[in-house]
Amino acid sequence: MAARKRASTKAGTRTKPLAEYKRKRDFTKTAEPAGKSAGSRSARALHFVIQKHAASHLHYDFRLELDGVMKSWAVPKGPSHDPAVRRLAMEVEDHPIEYNTFEGTIPKGQYGGGTVMLWDRGTYEPEGGGGADAVRDGYERGDLKIVMHGKRLQGGWVLVRMRRDESGRAQWLLIKHRDDTANPKYDVTEEITTSVASGRTMDQIAGGKSRVWNSNRDEKPAAKKKSGAKKSGAKKTSAKKATAKKATR
Ligand code: MN
Repeated sequence: MAARKRASTKAGTRTKPLAEYKRKRDFTKTAEPAGKSAGSRSARALHFVIQKHAASHLHYDFRLELDGVMKSWAVPKGPSHDPAVRRLAMEVEDHPIEYNTFEGTIPKGQYGGGTVMLWDRGTYEPEGGGGADAVRDGYERGDLKIVMHGKRLQGGWVLVRMRRDESGRAQWLLIKHRDDTANPKYDVTEEITTSVASGRTMDQIAGGKSRVWNSNRDEKPAAKKKSGAKKSGAKKTSAKKATAKKATR
């Protein structure tokens, strides 16, 4: 009989961090980060990022840092400041923390192909304090109350887990808390249509020559990197807006 195989393979079959994220992508073809294992960040503030993503359907990727990865949800309509509005948030695979600086274009044919805008970013904390432990606890219970300190989003929101679909994906609801940043009259996704990092619109990002990482640093919203050289006829400012709106389902 052949030598008996070691019985210790079970631990090796445990899901590695970011395994699904990596499986879906060809990093020789997309400029998205391949992801590396992050060390302990428990002593640091927890970061969040929201990316507006014009893939086959426009959505907002809502990502919360926890345990060295970005827990991620796809929110088709984006966040709302109206506490009466419940926004569907479909949980997707964890993303690497380096994804927080990604703005650009994922090539067509690649997973999630389309334009990605850094729509908001900042730090967040569990509503009742307690740091990452409290976030982890809320996430596991499916009742995650957080306070966001972003440029576009501030104050309390809650993510409530509803059910899982056939594939095991969890559906959550993203709801604004009734606090002093709540405002039923303010349509944030309609009002805020530029990058928090570069000030660019979706069309400007899509047309950008550098389909690469944006700098971590905030740029001036009006900053224009390129000058002259290209004679590009009439500017299509209104067309840009129309396209951005059309992308909304
Ligand atoms: Mn996405």
